[in-house]
Amino acid sequence: MIPSTINKVIAPLVAVASMLFLSDSIVAAKTLDIYFIDVEGGAATLIVTPLGESILVDSGFPGDRDAGRIARVARDVAHLNEIDHYITTHWHRDHVGGIARLAELIPVRRYYDHGLPGAPAVDIPPELIEAYKKTTQGRNEALRAGDEIKLRNAGTIRRLRLEVLAASGVVKGELPGAPQIRICNPNLKVKPEDKTDNANSIAFVLSYGGFRFFDGGDLTWNVENKLVCPRDVVGIVDVYQVDHHGSDTSNNPALVNSLMPRVAIINNGARKAGDPGTFATLKALPRIESIYQLHRNVLTTENDNTPATYIANEKEDCQGDFIKLSVDQTTRTFTVSIAARQISRSYRMGRRD
Ligand SMILES: [Zn+2]
Repeated sequence: MIPSTINKVIAPLVAVASMLFLSDSIVAAKTLDIYFIDVEGGAATLIVTPLGESILVDSGFPGDRDAGRIARVARDVAHLNEIDHYITTHWHRDHVGGIARLAELIPVRRYYDHGLPGAPAVDIPPELIEAYKKTTQGRNEALRAGDEIKLRNAGTIRRLRLEVLAASGVVKGELPGAPQIRICNPNLKVKPEDKTDNANSIAFVLSYGGFRFFDGGDLTWNVENKLVCPRDVVGIVDVYQVDHHGSDTSNNPALVNSLMPRVAIINNGARKAGDPGTFATLKALPRIESIYQLHRNVLTTENDNTPATYIANEKEDCQGDFIKLSVDQTTRTFTVSIAARQISRSYRMGRRD
C-alpha cells in the first residue's frame, strides 16, 4: 500500500497527466485545421481534416519560394507526408504556378481543376499548362458546380463536406454554358463580362458540423452575383477567404453580404490587392468580428488596413508567416492564430444571430 502522504502527492499528478493526455488526444482527433500560407499575393490554402486527410487549394507562384513555403508548412507544421487532394482554382500563375516544384518536394495524390484550357488565352501562360500536364500525367479530374470531393468521415466525428458551388463560370443549379451575366434583380449591379480565367475559378464551401468556410479563388463580380441570385446557393459562412486577394473587381457586396462571415481572411500581397472598396465592404458587415490580412497593404493608409495584430506580415520584406485556423467541435469554437507573432483569438462557430 502506498503511504498516504505519497499518495496525496502522486494522485493529483496522475490525474493532471491523464487529463493532459486526454485533452491532447481529443484536440488532435477533432480539429479541422486551415493554413493560409503567404505566397506574396498568390493563393495557397492548406486544409487538414480531423482524420489527417489533406487538401491544398492553389500553389502560389512558380519557383522555389512558394513551393518551399507550402512544403514547410505541410511537413513541419501540419506533419503531413503527402498531399491527398490538390485543387487548382484557375490557371493563373499565382495559383497553379507552384505545383510542379511542390510535387517534387512532397507527393501529391489527386489533382482537380476546372478543365484544361481548350484554346490558348492571353492570360494563361502555356508553359504553366505544360508543366501542370507533365506533373499530373493525365491524372487530373475536372470539377463541375455541384460536385463533391469525397472526404473521409468517421462515426464519432462531425461530418465533413467539400462541395463545389462554381466552376467554369457556371454555378450550382445552372446548365453548362450558362452566360456569365444574368440579370436577376434590378438592384444588383453587373460589370462588363470578365473574359479572364478568374471568372472560371472553382468556388467551394467546406463544412464541418456547424462550421462553414468559403473559398472562391479569384471569382469576379458577375459570377459572384449568380451565386446568390436568383437563388442563394452558398448560405451563411463562418469564415470567408476573401475572393481574388481582396480585389475590388471581385467582392461584390451582393455575395459578401449574403455570406455574412464572422471572420474574413485576405491573402493579399504587400502591393497586391487588399483594396479599399473590399475592405470597406467587409468592415460594414453586421456579423464581422475580425478581418485578417497576410500582408499589410503598403499602398494604402491605416484606415484601409486591419489593425496590426491581425496582420501576419507587417513588413514588405518578410518571412512569409502564415495564418492558421483551427476548428474545435468539442468547444464549438474556431481559433485564428499567427504563431510567428504569438497572436491567437477564438470565435464561436455557427451562431446565426
Ligand atoms: Zn490570384
